[in-house]
Amino acid sequence: MNDRTVDYAALSGIIFLICIIIVFELIPTERVNTKTVNQVYLTKNEDNNGEGHHISMEMNRDDNMEIPLPDSIDYDDIDVTYDIIEKRVNIYFELNKDNIDVTKVINTTDKTEGISYKSENGKLNIEIILNDYYQTKWDVNNGWLYVRFFPIDRSKPVVVIDPGHGGFDVGANVNNIYEKDINLSVCRKIEEMNAGSDIQIISTRGEDYYHSVEERAAFANTFSPDLFVSVHINWYQDAGINGTSVLYNSVNGEAFGTSYWLAGILQKNVVKSLGTFDMGLEDGKSIYVVRYVNVPSALVELGFITNQSDLQILTSEDGKRKSAAGVYEGIRQALKEMGKIQN
Ligand SMILES: [Zn+2]
Repeated sequence: MNDRTVDYAALSGIIFLICIIIVFELIPTERVNTKTVNQVYLTKNEDNNGEGHHISMEMNRDDNMEIPLPDSIDYDDIDVTYDIIEKRVNIYFELNKDNIDVTKVINTTDKTEGISYKSENGKLNIEIILNDYYQTKWDVNNGWLYVRFFPIDRSKPVVVIDPGHGGFDVGANVNNIYEKDINLSVCRKIEEMNAGSDIQIISTRGEDYYHSVEERAAFANTFSPDLFVSVHINWYQDAGINGTSVLYNSVNGEAFGTSYWLAGILQKNVVKSLGTFDMGLEDGKSIYVVRYVNVPSALVELGFITNQSDLQILTSEDGKRKSAAGVYEGIRQALKEMGKIQN
């Protein structure tokens, strides 16, 4: 190695470093942009100088809620729950002496109506009230908790799903196995299967919340959805009775696009996916959500909690996944027949 070679090596090394710096400057990092915007927003606000229009455009682009976390709190320490019917987000984490500085909470969305901080059972509960029905996502990054709110996408066909029961209303149960939990688990899987698809699915609950059937029907009706599907588990005193059935509203007839038509599609798809006994369709005009949701609506009874063979299916991960797949395929087929989706 001679001197000249060393010079070239040093030179190319410097050029390489410069390139690296340029490349890093050019990589768009959303978080960095977000922070910059917020700093602008805070600074302007503190200075109270009047460039309001410019600031509000920045805020709209940002559109989230940012909560500074104590060093001791990370993603796994946080529990976020959302009650869409109540338009309420609750964020819980262990309260300690590094309590969050609420003056540093940044709200750059116009989708909230209020935020409050309470101590509950040794935990901090941050409660956000929203001004409409949104879907929410949250994430932790660099010591900040970000909560975002997404409007319901009305450009897609809308389907409301309804995990039956919840809260103190456990539904059918045997040996501390509650219908409400299976219904919720199946509906969460339906939402997961649908992520990023051509259908907007809205669930009446994503958590163990109680809502009356009147509230659920009223909530569903505000969207005028394309379909409504309630998910339940059956119960019978005779443990020998097993199988899947779907309830429909006999009041609106048996034509195409009715509750009866939807129930038939769901029944076929769920039985095929689960391999359960086909009990056929049942008149559900006495069931509130079937009767009073103003669009094709049906209530799926996946199987019997009182039957060993059905119970085994419904409590297994695979059985819940197949239940979700059956209902989801039924929803897709119905929307296809309605001409709302392509395939
Ligand atoms: Zn039920």
